[in-house]
Amino acid sequence: MSSKVYFTDMRAKPGRNLLDKLEILIKKAGIEQIDFKDKFTAIKIHFGEPGNLAYIRANYAARLAKFLLSKQAKPFLTDSGTLYLGQRSNAINHLESAYENGFNPMAVPCPVIIADGLKAIDYQEIPLGLKYCKTAKIGAAIAEADIVISMTHFKGHEQAGFGGTLKNLGMGSASRQGKLELHSSSQPIIDEATCTSCGQCVKYCASQAIHLDEKKKAKIDYEKCVGCGQCVAVCQFEAAQPVWNNSTEVMNYKVAEYTFAVLKDKPNFHISFIMDVSPDCDCWNCNDAAIIPNLGIAASFDPVALDKACVDLVTQAGANTNTVLNAHEQGELQNTDKFAIIHPNTNWKAGLQHGEEIGLGTMAYELIKV
Ligand code: SF4
Ligand code: SF4
Repeated sequence: MSSKVYFTDMRAKPGRNLLDKLEILIKKAGIEQIDFKDKFTAIKIHFGEPGNLAYIRANYAARLAKFLLSKQAKPFLTDSGTLYLGQRSNAINHLESAYENGFNPMAVPCPVIIADGLKAIDYQEIPLGLKYCKTAKIGAAIAEADIVISMTHFKGHEQAGFGGTLKNLGMGSASRQGKLELHSSSQPIIDEATCTSCGQCVKYCASQAIHLDEKKKAKIDYEKCVGCGQCVAVCQFEAAQPVWNNSTEVMNYKVAEYTFAVLKDKPNFHISFIMDVSPDCDCWNCNDAAIIPNLGIAASFDPVALDKACVDLVTQAGANTNTVLNAHEQGELQNTDKFAIIHPNTNWKAGLQHGEEIGLGTMAYELIKV
């Protein structure tokens, strides 16, 4: 059994611009099969770290929001806080970043809700019982939504290989604690040099595993620490730090399982923008040159098939010159896995294969051009 993936390219003309093409695409792909009336509809998106310009333009989100409103949905744009300190690690900075990048009430006719709350610690624990994650810690607003629609900027990713729909949903919806679980399986460490003695980690550690020592620095009792990551989540000074010890495979397996949790028992639909395909994540405050020409937009009910179709389209495409790929002529490296060149220690296939194994979707797809 294969899944259908719908695709529209970048060609446009008056009366059929790219926003029109987005709406035509999602309708052809069957989005209207979902009953949106009065349903809280999470549009899961990455707002882009300020300084990065490769993220999805807010205009596309606005067109999708207008379409959902026409179906009497209650749409909202959403993302969860980051694990690292940047401009999106708490709801205030995250909202400011979203507004700065165009996801504001002037441009998009629906609210922005930061899924995991003020300090990125508001989540719901969704039972999974899968091989790598017994539960998933998903940002509350996404966990509580009736319907999930993902809008994904398809690009490279330094740990996952590429950042596609699974990465957007699985990693992006996780609370900070969830993100820690996805990245790492061990107990955190404290960097004494940056510890300000604020005591937040002591207050929030449910295992009473942290105290301030004689130097007034946080100290973890590893006999008591259960590795829950709460101290990393609440530390606003990057002093409580995760230990990054997951292999790319294990991280991608866990991302697939978290995606399963996000979509479990909910109508869902997925859109992927193969544009400005930068080598790295939109979490960086810059974006290196796009590795291929812009290809278009793809949509599907199946997130695994969608990611596979997108990576195949990027593989088939010729490379741009003057990028990290070092192609000397435009169009070189056709039919080459470019993410394997850029991030040689990653394995994106692992996540898609695991997604198939847990019933998230299938890598077999039929590409239908719209
Ligand atoms: S929350 Fe961070 S800065 Fe505050 S005491 Fe704990 S480790 Fe130190
Ligand atoms: S990881 Fe959890 S249990 Fe361990 S010190 Fe931090 S808050 Fe406490």
